[in-house]
Amino acid sequence: MTAKRLSERTRQLLPSSTQVLDAKVKELIAQGADVVNLGIGEPDFDTLPDAREGGVTAIREGFTRYTATAGIAPLRQAIAGWLGTQRGLDYRSDEIVVSNGAKQGLFNSLMALVDPGDEVIIQAPYWVSYPEMIKLAGGVPVIIETCAETGFKMKPEMVASRLTSRTRAIILNSPSNPTGVVYGREELTELAQLAVEHQLAVISDEIYDHLVYEDIEFVAFASLGPQVRELTVTVNGFSKTCAMTGWRIGYAAAPRWLAAAMTDVQAHTTSAASSISQRAALAALVRPQPLLEKMRLEFDARRRMTVARLAGIPGISLEVVPRGAFYLFANVAGLFGVNEDGQPIENSDRLARLLLEEAGVAVVPGSAFGAPNHVRISYATSLEQLESGMDRLLRFAHAHQPVSASTIRSG
Ligand code: PMP
Ligand code: GLU
Repeated sequence: MTAKRLSERTRQLLPSSTQVLDAKVKELIAQGADVVNLGIGEPDFDTLPDAREGGVTAIREGFTRYTATAGIAPLRQAIAGWLGTQRGLDYRSDEIVVSNGAKQGLFNSLMALVDPGDEVIIQAPYWVSYPEMIKLAGGVPVIIETCAETGFKMKPEMVASRLTSRTRAIILNSPSNPTGVVYGREELTELAQLAVEHQLAVISDEIYDHLVYEDIEFVAFASLGPQVRELTVTVNGFSKTCAMTGWRIGYAAAPRWLAAAMTDVQAHTTSAASSISQRAALAALVRPQPLLEKMRLEFDARRRMTVARLAGIPGISLEVVPRGAFYLFANVAGLFGVNEDGQPIENSDRLARLLLEEAGVAVVPGSAFGAPNHVRISYATSLEQLESGMDRLLRFAHAHQPVSASTIRSG
C-alpha cells in the first residue's frame, strides 16, 4: 500500500492531446518562438461584444454569487427559446442544464446514463475526450472505425453489428471534430430509427451546429420526432459559435427525468457555471447577433483557401472535403518513410513533432482521434496565419518526401 497510488480509473486515463499540445505551443510562442498554431480548436475572434458587455454589467451589478445549479432562469428560458426557433427543438426550460462548457454537459450525461460495464458507441475518428469520458463514467467505449470511403460516417448496419445487451448509448457529433463531416437528414433518420428500435440513448454533440458551409443543412438529432427526442441529450454551448472558449458556458437539453439527474451530478461536482459567464451568454441570446454570420463566412473563406492549398502539397491528401466545424482531417501516410537525409517518419505523432520542431507548425496527430495516418488542421485562425502554415507545410513535405518506406511504419 502506498499513499501515492492513483485510482484505476485515472491510471487508464490518457492526457488530452489537444490541451497538452496547446499548452506546449502557447509556451513556445510566449518564449518568442515563431509557431503557426493550427492545433487547438479555438476561434481567434473576440467574444461577441454583447456577451462581453453582459459579463461586465454582471460584475458591476454584483451578480457574483452562486446561481441555481442548472443555470439562471432567464438563460435557461432563452436557450429553450433559441432551440425552438432556430433548431425546431421543443424543450422546456426545466429540461435545460447550463454547464461549465459543453464538456461538462457531455460528462454529466454519461454519469447519469452509464452503469459500470455499459457500452457506449462512438465512431473513429472521434473527438479526443469521448473515450476518456466514457471510461471515467465506468463505461466501455465501443469504437466503430469509419474511413474515407464511408465519408467518415457511421452507417446504421455498422452500428447494428456492434450492439450487445450492454449497449447503453451512442455519441454523435455532427458537424464533427476532427473530420468536419456533417451527417445528412436521411443518415441521421436511419440512425434514429435504430436508436428507437433498440431504445439506446443518443448523446448528440451539436457544438458546431452553426458552422456548416456550402448550403449544407444542419439537422438537430432530437428534431427527428417525439420518440427520438425522448432518448436524446442535445449538447451545445457558446465556446465555438460565440468565441467564448474561456467563459466556460455549455448546456445540455434532455427529457426532464434525465435533466434532473444531470443537475444532481453537477450539484455535487462543480455547482453552477460562473454567474458572470451566464449573464454574458444570456446577453448573446437576447438579440440577433449579425457577427455570427460574419464569423461563419470568414471560417468558410479560410476553409476554402486551406483545402485548395492542401491539394498542392505532395504526400498529404484530404480524402473528404469538410463541410462543417473548423477542421481539416488530412491523410499524411504519403509522408511516412525515410527521406533523402535518412530521417524517418513512422507515424503521425512523429510527423506532428517534426513539423512543430522543424517547420514551426502545430497540428494535432490523428492518433489522438483514433486515426494514426492523419493529422487534424484547425483553420480557426487568420488567413495570413493559414497561408504561412501552408507555406511551411509545403516546404516540410518537399523536404520529407520518402525515398524508402520506413521499417517502423505503423497504423
Ligand atoms: N465537443 C466537441 C466536439 C468539441 O470540439 C469541444 C471543444 N472543446 C467540446 C465538445 C467542448 O466544448 P467546451 O469548450 O464548451 O467545453
Ligand atoms: N475541442 C477543442 C479541440 O479539439 C478544444 C480542446 C479541448 O477541449 O480538448 O481542439
